[in-house]
Amino acid sequence: MKEKLHALQAEALKQVEKADTLADFQKIRVSYLGKKGPITEVLRGMGKLSKEERPIIGELANKVRETITEAIETKKAVIEEAVLNEQLKSETIDVTLPGRPVQVGGPHLLTHIISEIEDLFIGMGFEVREGPEVETDYYNFEALNLPKDHPARDMQDSFYITEDLLMRTHTSPVQARTMGEYQGSKPVKMICPGKVYRRDTDDATHSHQFTQVEGLYVDKNVRMSDLKGVLNQFAKQFFGAEREIRLRPSFFPFTEPSVEMDISCKVCQGEGCSVCKQTGWIEILGGGMVHPNVLKMAGYDPKVYSGFAFGMGPERIAMLKYGIDDIRHFYTNDRRFLEQYHRAQ
Ligand SMILES: [Zn+2]
Repeated sequence: MKEKLHALQAEALKQVEKADTLADFQKIRVSYLGKKGPITEVLRGMGKLSKEERPIIGELANKVRETITEAIETKKAVIEEAVLNEQLKSETIDVTLPGRPVQVGGPHLLTHIISEIEDLFIGMGFEVREGPEVETDYYNFEALNLPKDHPARDMQDSFYITEDLLMRTHTSPVQARTMGEYQGSKPVKMICPGKVYRRDTDDATHSHQFTQVEGLYVDKNVRMSDLKGVLNQFAKQFFGAEREIRLRPSFFPFTEPSVEMDISCKVCQGEGCSVCKQTGWIEILGGGMVHPNVLKMAGYDPKVYSGFAFGMGPERIAMLKYGIDDIRHFYTNDRRFLEQYHRAQ
């Protein structure tokens, strides 16, 4: 029996020596040390042995079992380490490889200009209001002193949804809506940025859809000099502290008197050049004192309240500020154009 155990041990160790996968070890363990394995069998047969032989054989059997187990564990550890090393080698990360650049987005130039305008006017105490882009004939025209069949409506042809509903042609309806909401109960000091629509044929300076920022200040004793002061502040903030402004008489149905504001040409310093069409001035926006009819229709007594309003085009401001020559660049989403202004100041 002793010989049998020694032979088993030798045979098992030989197999361990040959084994090189984890599955092999499992097989060896089951076949030699398992419940149906030869060693268990020896231990079961111990009853047949003499009293003297029993402890000797028992001890030997246990020793053989330990030796085989130990051999398996040792070799297994070596194999496992080799497998791990192989894995580490194949999964090596080359930290010197340059990273893939992360694409960083930025606001659209028009969004940027609009938020800059908002910041400036919020700083002067204006609130920012919004209004619907699909507007009623009443708010888009009538409440702004543009009754039906008024010839000035021709300048603002739009897309009609029904006879009475249209895509708003300017952001001015938001003035009428805000004043109508307050009903003469308190002063109004607001700007309204947003999209507007005209039935224009698209070219370098026209688009059927563009943006506007409307401004309105209604209170007691608001004078034209207040309008001039606010617009002067705006011009200097956007185009440089050295810019001069001038107001020219103009006509808008909803303001009286009405003005157009020009800034002095940056290129020629007022001498006259091709950018300013030899005039030394560049037109920026329109405005004026709110027409008494507009105040009256919105519930403000024109004998008590007065106000000014102005409207500007963020596209025009961006084009002048950055020398952009075609309005269509804003809407065609060419990233080569847009990305130049991601960090615009
Ligand atoms: Zn010029």
